[in-house]
Amino acid sequence: MRKEVLVLGGNFGGLNAALGVKHELEGDVDVTVVSAAERFLFNPSLIWLPFGRRSPADITFPLAPTFGMHGVEFVHAAATVIDPQARVVHTTKGVHNYDYLVIATGYRNTFDVLPGFESADGVYTITTLEDAIRPGEEWRRFLDDPGPVVIGATQGAGCFGAAYEFLFDTAYQVKKAGLRGRAPLTYVTAEPFLGQSGIGGLPGGEKLLRMFCKKEGIQTVTGVAMQERAPGKLRLADGQDLHYAYAMIVPPFTGQDVVAAVPGLADDKGFVPVRDTYQSLAYPEVYPVGVAAAVQVPWTTAILAVCVMDAGANGVMILADRMLPPRKFGVMIPRPQSHLAKLMFEKYFVWKSRHGYVRLP
Ligand SMILES: Cc1cc2nc3c(=O)[nH]c(=O)nc-3n(C[C@H](O)[C@H](O)[C@H](O)COP(=O)(O)OP(=O)(O)OC[C@H]3O[C@@H](n4cnc5c(N)ncnc54)[C@H](O)[C@@H]3O)c2cc1C
Repeated sequence: MRKEVLVLGGNFGGLNAALGVKHELEGDVDVTVVSAAERFLFNPSLIWLPFGRRSPADITFPLAPTFGMHGVEFVHAAATVIDPQARVVHTTKGVHNYDYLVIATGYRNTFDVLPGFESADGVYTITTLEDAIRPGEEWRRFLDDPGPVVIGATQGAGCFGAAYEFLFDTAYQVKKAGLRGRAPLTYVTAEPFLGQSGIGGLPGGEKLLRMFCKKEGIQTVTGVAMQERAPGKLRLADGQDLHYAYAMIVPPFTGQDVVAAVPGLADDKGFVPVRDTYQSLAYPEVYPVGVAAAVQVPWTTAILAVCVMDAGANGVMILADRMLPPRKFGVMIPRPQSHLAKLMFEKYFVWKSRHGYVRLP
């Protein structure tokens, strides 16, 4: 009898899992994807949205045709209750049974780490599509009436790469608009040193980022938590106030409520602890993938880490033998070609995903 595979979420993790399973087990499985988003989103390009270098249409595509092409049923709905005992998921559009459940529901922002953050005027984040649209409107106003800019990542944040990319992109845009003297930039972070990025940093990384910041005239404040946001002012835990006309802050991520609500499934951040096989610890027929999976730390899987960080018209190529320390080697190579590499990767990845060619690298 054919097995029912139900996938929650249709972005990086969900799209790859659904199409991968469908192709590997063709004939043995029926695959259904339930996704709260109707479109795939290439999140790494959100850094360019506020500056008009990308529109939402450039970095998204509709999921239904892609799944339809490969014989996967697509339901545009949000999962509301997961019942692993009964092996059913309730959604905003009905109930689905499963033999195997893939949880690929990713992350959501948590703003409560910084009182005043969510009710922001002039302080934004870019970590979801909806969030990244608003700072674009504000950026256009800012160009007419510039002032100090604060970019940073709060205590508990994990997505530091996006904060650094946005910082150097902002520096580039400020320079391009001829506003360098009128829009001083500050980077503020809970990281103990620049480039620590929650992964222990890379050899030479701090020095390189210091050099970049000095060249761009960026003031840096490290190892400090953010305490409170008031209009135009960010208060830090050491009592220092940073004044801003425009600010972008990366908050911490947690898992989705629907996952966190299942007894025994998720950790205290709503991410699901997994075994080496990516089965959940609590329910072996449940497979969390992507950001939804809480991988055991220290994560020492020896996969070559290749990362390209954008920096306006420049960029940095990061190479390491593994993502987390201890590493045998790790280097950061600054060069303008990295910016081009990032643009080409975006085009390739969106094309590949839109066609469902998940076996391509
Ligand atoms: C600004 C930014 C830049 C980044 N840059 C990079 C980079 O350069 N390189 C890199 O490797 N990573 C980068 N990342 C991280 C990368 O985007 C994530 O690792 C990736 O999005 C994780 O994919 P995912 O499928 O696990 O989750 P997500 O992309 O978060 O997708 C989850 C999906 O599940 C859906 N969903 C949520 N709740 C429900 C529900 N209840 N029911 C049904 N569906 C639901 C959501 O709508 C969404 O479509 C970046 C992230 C950001 C924010």
